[in-house]
Amino acid sequence: MASVDLTSVADLSVEPGTLPEKMTAWVIRKEREGEPIDAFQLEEIEVPDPGPFEVTVRVMAAGVNYNNVWAALGQPVSVFRYHPEEDHHIGGSDASGIVWKVGTGVTRWTPGDEVIIHCNQASYEDVEVHGLDPLAAPSQKIWGYETSWGSFAQFTKVQAQQLIPKPRNLTWEEAASYGLVYFTAYRMLIDQCHLKAGHKVLIWGAAGGLGVFAVQLCAAAGAECVGVVSSKEKGDLVMQLGATGYIDRNEFKGMMRKGGESADEEKERFGESRRFGKAVKELLGDAPDIVFEHVGKATFPTSVFVLKPFGKVVICAGTTGFNLDFDVRYLWMRQKQIIGSHFANAYECMKANQLIDQGKIRPVLWRTMGFDGVAEAHQLMRDNKHLGKIAILVGAEKEGLGRSEDGPGAIKAEVGA
Ligand code: NAP
Repeated sequence: MASVDLTSVADLSVEPGTLPEKMTAWVIRKEREGEPIDAFQLEEIEVPDPGPFEVTVRVMAAGVNYNNVWAALGQPVSVFRYHPEEDHHIGGSDASGIVWKVGTGVTRWTPGDEVIIHCNQASYEDVEVHGLDPLAAPSQKIWGYETSWGSFAQFTKVQAQQLIPKPRNLTWEEAASYGLVYFTAYRMLIDQCHLKAGHKVLIWGAAGGLGVFAVQLCAAAGAECVGVVSSKEKGDLVMQLGATGYIDRNEFKGMMRKGGESADEEKERFGESRRFGKAVKELLGDAPDIVFEHVGKATFPTSVFVLKPFGKVVICAGTTGFNLDFDVRYLWMRQKQIIGSHFANAYECMKANQLIDQGKIRPVLWRTMGFDGVAEAHQLMRDNKHLGKIAILVGAEKEGLGRSEDGPGAIKAEVGA
């Protein structure tokens, strides 16, 4: 670790409205892409001034996401391809903080406002933003992944449209922990699949970042869901969040697609997928109307197979591999749909956040770490030793600060590494 003084990360000598020249940040550089524990290094770096319709926010806490595991690894592509104009990558696509300086044209926010930040950016000049969806804009980028100036720093620079009022019933770390995964799960289920009361849903990785919110959305909507997990502790968490049941995937290891299997191995794998489908049906009383996918290569053939006729597989990632192959007969003969989904637009983020304001959906926080923990947190995630979400204290001196109203707060996920 570079010799950067971390004792003063929570201290500032300037008031809202004025930026200091330098800040402390966790930085990935092209030449050290690799395991997160080494790729992230502390550096002193200039504080970004906000341009037109931009805001510089003092980060009070940041949220850890899988996207900066990919950024550290430089896989499947190096993030420096996305922002060639900057040779540093300050990751971090979730934050809670205080508006510190606003750029020209910003009228809705003033220094001192308490906010959380959603991670979708797009140019105001792209026509898709004004009638289709900002996610369709050619300029669309995920802040803190496809852009630099993310939240693992004392200050971050964002577009004004990314700001959402911070829920008053949450601490800084709780408020920083959920946006990226929760807003993604919201779009996948509510807008892409039109989740309804009575629907039956299968959720892969149900105790992970996306999964804990997919389970809660199902419970809030009156839908039944089964979560797939890899331990009893994770299963207990999923039940606590409102799932109808859970399945430990270790009992169905043979259903995972590895690639390059022989015809006999394929047949055997298919038998295991069938056995898994039966277990899902037993728990839900029927085959699922919706399969919530992000695992990709290993699970996708099973997802398409177990789905009910006319059902939907909604997918936002391929953690185990991006090249999916599956028996397409089960898709066309049973008229199933595959829907790709990526993050959420500002309107969806705002609607989803209202459910957090109302305490109907709660952050699921596994661990809060100090600013020194950024590299370690990403390594834990890379090694699948976490559950729920990890938050990082930046401007907040300790846990428990920032709440100004009563509310249920976060669910604490107690088990794991
Ligand atoms: P996470 O917290 O690591 O959770 C993923 C879960 O998947 C893990 O808890 C694990 O649960 C399960 N899993 C891992 N390997 C598996 C395998 N071989 N087979 C079955 N399940 C497996 O990550 P996350 O935050 O939920 O994100 C998941 C993926 O979605 C990442 O690739 C991330 O980059 C992507 N993502 C995309 C978007 C988007 O907008 N496109 C948004 C958010 C996340 P068990 O071990 O308990 O089964």
